[in-house]
Amino acid sequence: MKVAIFSTKIYDRHFLDAANQEAGANHELVYFETRLAAQTASLAEGFPAVCAFVNDDLGSETLKILANQGVRLIVLRCTGFNNVDLETAAHLNIKVLRVIAYSPYSVAEHAVGLILLLNRKLYRAYNRVRDDNFALDGLLGFDLRGRTVGIVGTGKIGLIFAQIMQGFGCHLLGYDAYPNDKFTGIGDANYVELTELLAKSDIISLHCPLLPETTNLINETTIAQMKRGVMLINTSRGKLIDTKAVIEGIKSGQIGYLGIDVYEEEEKLFFKDLSNTVIQDDTFQLLQSFSNVVITAHQAFFTENALNDISRTTIANLTDFEQGKPLKNEVSLAK
Ligand code: NAD
Repeated sequence: MKVAIFSTKIYDRHFLDAANQEAGANHELVYFETRLAAQTASLAEGFPAVCAFVNDDLGSETLKILANQGVRLIVLRCTGFNNVDLETAAHLNIKVLRVIAYSPYSVAEHAVGLILLLNRKLYRAYNRVRDDNFALDGLLGFDLRGRTVGIVGTGKIGLIFAQIMQGFGCHLLGYDAYPNDKFTGIGDANYVELTELLAKSDIISLHCPLLPETTNLINETTIAQMKRGVMLINTSRGKLIDTKAVIEGIKSGQIGYLGIDVYEEEEKLFFKDLSNTVIQDDTFQLLQSFSNVVITAHQAFFTENALNDISRTTIANLTDFEQGKPLKNEVSLAK
């Protein structure tokens, strides 16, 4: 099957080519570096399938252009599908498939990495030692053992994150729209209402999807309900957080630490080398300037294991569609 693959980097090509070869699938993979949006959709002219990533814009305008050009299938190289207008896709008879699961350890372990960076101020320590500054002032941390960790969204990633934090000796609180027994089976883990989780947690980590009801879940009101000095971690989706409210929370001391791998306006920044340009996003620049904030650029998924899983599933999704097999990874409107 001929596929137009958008937002690709060298590593995407390497892993997708390897998975295509490994499966003996012979899909014709055509790579575009550019992001998919209405302005670039014409590149997919003549392709029955399009492959997209997290920051591609699959809103109604893009989908209509793709459909007019004969696209019948969209395969997402990610789990989240908040960037796809599913109603329009269904209306245009375009199937949308995704990678339902890939190494959840990649994201869960990255969230833990952000916690350790912040708590032990490892990002500052690393720079200090390189500068022959061996003083410890300003690097004081706290033990994770005995702290309460609140996990919002206890699905595949949230569960692994919970298991790791339990290994540190933390108490676990969970909030999920659909609670499951696997979470309560981990150590002393308990489900509570969101307000209780916010009020009792020393560390809050977000692992729920971006949906209308979770957009700006972290806002002025919910920040005010948190423990003073809380550590907030977001490896899920940028729009879960109202960044301006978080900035106010940091300035007032209500939020003591912020670790994020996602940012609400990240599509203008992430996955690009902008080191020779002047960043125009003042909110992002302000956030960067705080000494108790660490930001990574949507790299939580970026492990060999995860990229292998993503590529193999993407190739299998193309093959399933081409061969008329049941589409087990289809994103349907109901989900
Ligand atoms: P999952 O579907 O296994 O788990 C999501 C959990 O959130 C489920 O238990 C679900 O019931 C819960 N949930 C749904 N609505 C909720 C609500 N309103 N409030 C609270 N919880 C709610 O998904 P996953 O594989 O664990 O991934 C979680 C998220 O992580 C994804 O949606 C994606 O946005 C993000 N993610 C980020 C990266 C990255 O590189 N930073 C990579 C992969 C996934």
